[in-house]
Amino acid sequence: MVGISTKIDTRYWNISPHRPERGKVIQASSIISGGGIVAFPTETVYGLGADAWNSRAIEKIYLAKERPADNPLIVHIAYFHQMRDLVQDITPTARYLARRFWPGPLTLVLPKGNGIPEIVTAGLDTVAIRMPAHPVAKSLIYYSRRPIVAPSANRSGRPSPTTALHVLRDMYGRIDGVMDGGTAKVGVESTVLDITGDIPIILRPGGIPLEDLERALGQVDLDTGLESRGEDTKPRSPGMKYRHYAPKGELHIFLGGPDVVTAKAMVEAAGEWWRKGGRVGILCSREVYEMINEMDDISDAIYFMRSLGGWDDPGAAARGLYSALHQCDLDEVDIILVQALPTRGIGLAVMNRLLKAAGNRVVKV
Ligand code: AMP
Ligand code: MG
Repeated sequence: MVGISTKIDTRYWNISPHRPERGKVIQASSIISGGGIVAFPTETVYGLGADAWNSRAIEKIYLAKERPADNPLIVHIAYFHQMRDLVQDITPTARYLARRFWPGPLTLVLPKGNGIPEIVTAGLDTVAIRMPAHPVAKSLIYYSRRPIVAPSANRSGRPSPTTALHVLRDMYGRIDGVMDGGTAKVGVESTVLDITGDIPIILRPGGIPLEDLERALGQVDLDTGLESRGEDTKPRSPGMKYRHYAPKGELHIFLGGPDVVTAKAMVEAAGEWWRKGGRVGILCSREVYEMINEMDDISDAIYFMRSLGGWDDPGAAARGLYSALHQCDLDEVDIILVQALPTRGIGLAVMNRLLKAAGNRVVKV
């Protein structure tokens, strides 16, 4: 394994997500200001934080996560004025979007200010900034008295953590502490929006839906690299080019509606994998979940099955997605059959993560 030879003593704080206990936050923030790395809850997923001005602290994040060095980090702030030192200029669009969507799951990419460590932006001339809505995140930034860089608190390539337990399973012994503030409410990462050009571009779909941004801004484009299935188009958000968000089992996406045709196709495929000796899991809409449970000829093939919520409820799918993928790992499932869900609202982010995790293995029903 790269980098880490000695095991770090990982501290743990159980903390109120609504009224974070000051004494605990001050302990965690003094680790951040002393150059350490601490995981904390945000409304999207758990982040792994370090002092945004301290390159050596930030190096520890890359090591702990085994994150590729060309994948830049998001800087988290608690107050709008903290943006001043981070960017060249606070543009009217930035001001408008901040007023409308912050605190919340929207990350803005802007020309970077002087003095931001290279390691934060991985050499790019832009910086990504977000103001999280979670009280624990806010108070941690406040008591640390500086912006905090925070990628998701998982090893690179693995599903993101939505609970402190997910963080501990992946990062125990690699980080200085974990603040346990319960389950992340949104469940997928922030929307990354590039506002350096005339037309805003979504580099990564996330917690703030495309439709909301269109209502606020008029035209909003999706980065062409996102749509591509091939290797040749380069996404502008460096992080989007890697296989990502993936459980250990092999994921297959089933493109089918909330109907019995899809249910049958998934059960049949489960049977085939099972006969080949694979342990099979199914993630699907509530509708298909109920249909499968009603089937007479359902075999013993399905080791693990979970509903991601109703077909018309992409928010539920977002909240449940990563914990379902973590459960597949705990159950040592080899083959994970997942029903594709509508890309409306936050569903676009859900399908983006699933297609990434599946390495684009898609089955048409
Ligand atoms: P993570 O915090 O691990 O969920 O990943 C942060 C995401 O933001 C990655 O996809 C990064 O590539 C992206 N990102 C961070 N900074 C920039 C930037 N300056 N320009 C474009 N994308 C960025
Ligand atoms: Mg991540």
